[in-house]
Amino acid sequence: MGFSTIAIHAGNEPDPTTGAVTVPIYQTSTFAQEGLGKHKGYEYARTRNPTRSALERNIAALEGARFGFAFASGMAAIDAVLRLVQADDHVIVSDNTYGGTFRLFTRVLSNYRIEFSFVDTTDPLNVERALRPNTRMVFVETPTNPVMAVTDLRAVSDIAHAAGAIVVCDNTFMSPYLQRPLEFGVDIVVHSTTKYLNGHSDGVGGIVVLNDEERAERLGFIQNSAGAILSPFDSWLVLRGTKTLALRMQQHDRAGRAVAAFLAEHPKVEKVYYTGLASHPQHELAQRQQRGFGGMVSFDAGSLEKARTVLESVRLCTLAESLGGVETLISHPATMTHAAVAPEVRARLGITDGLVRISVGLEDVEDIIADLDQALARI
Ligand SMILES: *Cc1c(COP(=O)(O)O)cnc(C)c1O
Repeated sequence: MGFSTIAIHAGNEPDPTTGAVTVPIYQTSTFAQEGLGKHKGYEYARTRNPTRSALERNIAALEGARFGFAFASGMAAIDAVLRLVQADDHVIVSDNTYGGTFRLFTRVLSNYRIEFSFVDTTDPLNVERALRPNTRMVFVETPTNPVMAVTDLRAVSDIAHAAGAIVVCDNTFMSPYLQRPLEFGVDIVVHSTTKYLNGHSDGVGGIVVLNDEERAERLGFIQNSAGAILSPFDSWLVLRGTKTLALRMQQHDRAGRAVAAFLAEHPKVEKVYYTGLASHPQHELAQRQQRGFGGMVSFDAGSLEKARTVLESVRLCTLAESLGGVETLISHPATMTHAAVAPEVRARLGITDGLVRISVGLEDVEDIIADLDQALARI
């Protein structure tokens, strides 16, 4: 079946008690049992809740996975995945990973004797070189935020598996519509559902999907033990969001290409970061690995002052962190999402003071481009 059919039907069976076509919000903490040990698969809502179960089945199906586990945020999902490793284990991580992931790994989990190596995973050989006898996991993000560096998921998976390590991919930027990492050998996919999966900027959540049954059992155990679950209402919002995921991603992708092409031609723009541009150093790899290029576009305005002029002159685009919603958001990585990253690391990653990031929304793209055009004219 096609992606949209799965998005609309997987997990969304009519409610068995009433026939409700939309999965109800099961706002309950506990479930009546018929007798000792006799129940309908639900006992206590931390362990399982029908609305959350529906969402977990839905997104697992979209990623081509067997199992899904929904969490209270993307970070809670990533934290749960990292509980698959233990003290004295080593984890290799994409060096320009999401700031919250970097903070969790370096300032929280490092206190538990888990070792992290941050490497440029755009060259798979860097992953090979970073391997140690105790490497248990390789954690990648592709394309990265905000400079859109692409990691070859097949190559990194082959290298990791040969060394007995598993591969985790944060697929938040692409969504399963544009990229399905499990097809390239990745073992576990995580998402911040806050972004494209929910898609309407009205909820925070996370999900983990995977195929390995034993590991899934362990993750379910971790989810229930630590308890950072997604609420029934938030599960329902994401479930509503994924029904239109294909349509939304098609338009994010179309508009992203148009905005990137406009910026690439603009005389005041020094550099554009978008995997759909032929000038992107990994354009071919992105074409092979992704079904499109998506709605995230970054560009360098040349200096902090010029970036500030653009960010303070836009009228339609909203100055805000986050991404993946219906509205176009514009942000300044150096002072917003990546403020906690040391200036010399930012410089190495290409996160200059002039860099501006756009999450291209679903407004008419002519209006988005006109807004950027008038803002750039003020430089
Ligand atoms: C937002 C984001 C996260 C964190 O998700 P939250 O829902 O904010 O906790 C993780 N990875 C990426 C790539 C993100 O964009």
